Amino acid sequence: MAFSTAMGQRELLVVCPKCERPTRTMVYKHPTTAAWILGACVCVLTLGLCGWVVFKYGKFYYYAHFCRECKSFIGGFSRQGEIDCVK
Ligand SMILES: [Zn+2]
Repeated sequence: MAFSTAMGQRELLVVCPKCERPTRTMVYKHPTTAAWILGACVCVLTLGLCGWVVFKYGKFYYYAHFCRECKSFIGGFSRQGEIDCVK
């Protein structure tokens, strides 16, 4: 799973573990659960003024990589350090 460690915020050239074709990954970015919880807390604490700060700083986004050929989920990356991978 050498490619998973290189997985980041951008598209990646990989050999898909599902269909075994070389492909460029499609990346979908979405906020992590922690971001929603923290965002909600910050919103409440600042009366809704600063909740957006949590989402602005990208740290709490999760980047999911999918195969362009077979649309399989290949792996994910987040800057909080949680990296998972489908074999
Ligand atoms: Zn594939």
